[in-house]
Amino acid sequence: MQKENFIDKILNAGLKNTKYRLSIIELLSESKELLTAYNIREELLKKKIKINLSTVYRTVDKLVETKILNRINLENEKNAMYEYNREKHHHFLICENCNKIVPIYSCPIDKYELELEEKSGFQIKGHKIEFYGICEDCQKA
Ligand SMILES: [Zn+2]
Ligand SMILES: [Zn+2]
Repeated sequence: MQKENFIDKILNAGLKNTKYRLSIIELLSESKELLTAYNIREELLKKKIKINLSTVYRTVDKLVETKILNRINLENEKNAMYEYNREKHHHFLICENCNKIVPIYSCPIDKYELELEEKSGFQIKGHKIEFYGICEDCQKA
């Protein structure tokens, strides 16, 4: 199942499959939002997996290096956040209150990009968009 795909992914990246690597990938692939190293540690503790913060950093570094995870550094965020790399174009919704970051996998810009290329003569290679606002949880609180 899913689990074996992740093991293959780890092995194909030339890494050894370790409990920490596998559980971090699983955690992030199931997470609806991006997580900081600190969040990752907390979530793993909830699953009774003890890991110290420096091991989290070391593990995510390797997984980012091998493109299994993405590291996201937003301007106004001190902490890097991590997401499972689905290898799909996406954007982010960012809550200005709790700093939650939620990836969205639909893109409204593709057509505009073509139009822009025609008008400007630019060869456009990509774009980044982040939407800022208040998440549902924070609106209820
Ligand atoms: Zn929020
Ligand atoms: Zn887009």
